[in-house]
Amino acid sequence: MGKLAVFGGKSIRDTYLPYGRQFIDEDDIHAVVQTLQSDFLTCGPKVKEFEQALCSLTGANFATAVSNGTGALHVACLAAGIRSGDEVITTPITFAATANAILYCGGTPVFADIDPKTYTIDPRSIEGHITEKTKAIIAVDFTGQACAYDPILEICHKYNLLLIEDAAHSIGTMYRGRPVGQIADLTTFSFHPVKTLTAGEGGAVLAQDPELAKRMELFARHGITRNPQLLQEQANSNWYYEQKLLGYNYRMTDIQCALAISQMEKLDRFVARRKQLVGQYNQMLHEIPEVILQEENDGSDSVRHLYILRLDFRNLSCGRKEIYDALQAENIGVNVHYIPVYFFPYYQQLGYQRGICPNAEDYYETSMTLPLFYSMTDRDQQDVVNAVKKVLGYYRR
Ligand SMILES: *Cc1c(COP(=O)(O)O)cnc(C)c1O
Repeated sequence: MGKLAVFGGKSIRDTYLPYGRQFIDEDDIHAVVQTLQSDFLTCGPKVKEFEQALCSLTGANFATAVSNGTGALHVACLAAGIRSGDEVITTPITFAATANAILYCGGTPVFADIDPKTYTIDPRSIEGHITEKTKAIIAVDFTGQACAYDPILEICHKYNLLLIEDAAHSIGTMYRGRPVGQIADLTTFSFHPVKTLTAGEGGAVLAQDPELAKRMELFARHGITRNPQLLQEQANSNWYYEQKLLGYNYRMTDIQCALAISQMEKLDRFVARRKQLVGQYNQMLHEIPEVILQEENDGSDSVRHLYILRLDFRNLSCGRKEIYDALQAENIGVNVHYIPVYFFPYYQQLGYQRGICPNAEDYYETSMTLPLFYSMTDRDQQDVVNAVKKVLGYYRR
């Protein structure tokens, strides 16, 4: 066993392999340039075209493009009517934006624990947290895997709750044969460059119900409308519009939408390669005794955005930090998704205590994210696996 790079040995790789990276081709560049040369940089035809493409892709009835995934979550919570005094149940194993969106509306995030095998929100824990104040659930398709939606939807019906799906990781994923986007009442996407499909920045909210769709559209566009059916007064000229509620400017530009449309044309390729890489990781890692593979929720046909390396530390003479540092020194861009949201000082200061979600906390202590992106080569992946084997071999008792 060679000396680890972290202690001055030679690295497995000469160049750093990031955990995620966008893939941009000539078609993408051409699409953006064409829009730059067109009449509309924003509020133009590309926005509608992208919204329609999202509906075709997912089978959702309505889509509103917004400036990012965080804005999408905020708009979804506003459309759902979340306000002061309402509780919304969500998972701590997510990006802070999921819970922050509840706070933006004056609501209270209530953290349910995760399933220890799939790492998505555990329906049994959801049910244990329901009170008369509970208004909605935000389920997060963590790593790209669809949550256990059959039992979650059952809970929603039983207690009359709205379901918001944070699908920032899961565009292209299917649940029991239905695409993500037509499962929940409201679904949100992010098109940040690390996600499966990118617009630089961008997001979207999808809905099935016309009433929710009307609200999400208004909240994302200043609360302003020109739709004759929504106007209180008869429009006597086409300059006339009305503000119906207090909305925001969450516009996505035509430049971003042009890029997103062009990216969407490659989605099948992105999906196929991600699935192939995940299959290969599972194949290469499952025989390593310390490695615990993520299990799939029943019914989820997942497009993974993240690949999690979870470890059983009983036979290792170190903790997660040493493994993480050693892999970084091997030039493998490991990452950690996520620090439980309620660990952050801001949430601690709001009164959340450590210990409330033991499965989530145990997951956090024992996990890290391995590189996974479309343009990663088999050789890159072999480097990752070799580095994992080298580092675990070094620390194995
Ligand atoms: C990326 C992400 C967001 C936020 O999306 P932005 O486009 O970066 O605002 C929200 N939730 C999850 C789970 C994410 O991964």
